[in-house]
Amino acid sequence: MSEPLVYAIPLRNRFRGVTVREGVLVRGPAGWGEFCPFADYGDQESVPWLRAALEASREGWPAPVRRRVEVNTTVPVVEAEKAYQLAAESGCRTAKVKVADPRTSLSDDCDRVAAVRDALGSNGAIRVDANAAWDVDTAVKAVRELDKAAGGLEYVEQPCPSIDELAAVRRKTDVRIAADESIRRAEDPLRVAVANAADVAVIKVAPLGGVRRALQVAEACGLPCVVSSAVETSVGLAAGLALAGALPELDFACGLGTMSLLTSDTTSAALSPVDGYLPVLTTPPEPDRAHENEADDATAEQWRRRLDRVSQLVNS
Ligand SMILES: [Mg+2]
Repeated sequence: MSEPLVYAIPLRNRFRGVTVREGVLVRGPAGWGEFCPFADYGDQESVPWLRAALEASREGWPAPVRRRVEVNTTVPVVEAEKAYQLAAESGCRTAKVKVADPRTSLSDDCDRVAAVRDALGSNGAIRVDANAAWDVDTAVKAVRELDKAAGGLEYVEQPCPSIDELAAVRRKTDVRIAADESIRRAEDPLRVAVANAADVAVIKVAPLGGVRRALQVAEACGLPCVVSSAVETSVGLAAGLALAGALPELDFACGLGTMSLLTSDTTSAALSPVDGYLPVLTTPPEPDRAHENEADDATAEQWRRRLDRVSQLVNS
């Protein structure tokens, strides 16, 4: 294996409390994989992320059943005017709007989704993501108001932390519920667990341990799936597209149009949506621009150590 490449790329807006996205690119016989667990993830929690990177670099991905994937644009927690601009410029028909940030109010969230509706028009689809921020009562009230402000929501993603709370919110509103953080295990009881709690499952390659494992999770949960990224660079995004490309059914736009959240990329073959679609690649792109976004020595050393520690866990 050649020397891993450590990158650090500023985000356009704060996301999950971070302003710079960091990660490591690892090379193997099948190409490049991206290992980029968030800073607050422990080594054990990062194991599936490394499995996903190793699948891409050593094994490659299963054959796709489609050649392109419709994607949504992601609108971070920004002012309504900025939200309008982001949605209008994206070229996407569907927007995912981040809501429930502790630094903003429900009325800010309503203004943001209303602005996105203006930008997309009546044929657009708007989903919101609360990242498990609400309790049941807050969620029910917020979902009703956001649904009104949006002129109809496609779904609300992870309004509350637990499966039981999702089920309670689902009973009390007419808006579809998507489970994201709740979908993390490829086990049989998953189907039973999410059956009454969600209408849609959000699946991600890295936290689920690779494309093959994520396909198993999709089958186990028995719900329509939306593939989302973990805001990787295009090397890691390609794995998300491989998953979206291999799913037997794909009814919703996927959350893979996230390159717009980063100010640069590790490759010149950037996976930026054209007219709301991304191509399904059969191999990850070459990180020919990683050197432009190289992390400083101290950051690079931290990531090499992290990679070593998590590699030991994967191999044990
Ligand atoms: Mg989410």
